[in-house]
Amino acid sequence: MKITLEGKTGIILGVANKRSIAWACASSLAREGMRLAFTYIGERMEKSVRALAEECPGSIVLPCDVTKPEEIDATFEAVGEEFGHLDTVVHAVAFAKKEELEGDFYHTSKEGYMLAHEVSAYSLTAVTRRALPLMEGRNGSIVTLSYLGGDRVVPNYNVMGIAKAALEASVRYLAADLGPRGIRVNAISAGPVRTLAASGISGFNSMLDAIEERSPMKRNITADEVGDTCLFLSSELSRGITGTTLYVDAGYHIMGF
Ligand code: NAD
Repeated sequence: MKITLEGKTGIILGVANKRSIAWACASSLAREGMRLAFTYIGERMEKSVRALAEECPGSIVLPCDVTKPEEIDATFEAVGEEFGHLDTVVHAVAFAKKEELEGDFYHTSKEGYMLAHEVSAYSLTAVTRRALPLMEGRNGSIVTLSYLGGDRVVPNYNVMGIAKAALEASVRYLAADLGPRGIRVNAISAGPVRTLAASGISGFNSMLDAIEERSPMKRNITADEVGDTCLFLSSELSRGITGTTLYVDAGYHIMGF
């Protein structure tokens, strides 16, 4: 089977710049012909997202802070008006305060815990609900981004690990809800990649070193490897897969020591 996404449309939440995993996902999808909507938060990001979107023919760019329900509503309304339907949602959005991503987890504040979960976990459900009317009858796919810190203790990942566990559980519940409607929901658990979000995690370099030393493939992964997995999960090739977390981490997650 040949992959072609001609005539298909997608929305990408989470491009900040060229290093973003969301940008790698967008590049893979656009390469195979998918027409894309990009979202951004804040003026600074708008500029960089608009510049990148120019590389994807026919794309549109919309503001969408996932903590603002009215912005999510407006985004999907605009996508509906512009595209008429939606085949793929890429959710690559996460946030925690820098001070929550270092030291002991038990210091996590209630406010920091709620914020990390609102942006990084609940937003998948909020976005899915708005996307559904546009995805009906199209055998679409929803893909989110997770990390091993949701299954295992990774130093300094702290509250974001708890949010990723909630995100991966949300994937399973959403997949069960939407399977009968032909919509699949999956997560990619990516190995560490140097991005803006990653720069907020204390000791990030030692995460990269550990993968190089101990993963079966003895190397780190690249964002475009995640992008191509997103393409697979968004295409007919993965039509039998839903509710799963697929690891793109050079095999690191299988190692016991
Ligand atoms: P990134 O900084 O490029 O992307 C994070 C995005 O989240 C940004 O575009 C930012 O604007 C967006 N965001 C933050 N708060 C938001 C809000 N309130 N509303 C809407 N958008 C908001 O970093 P990235 O590493 O590409 O992160 C993308 C996803 O990949 C995240 O879910 C992250 O946890 C996950 N991930 C990253 C790595 C890594 O090592 N970089 C590994 C595994 C998983």
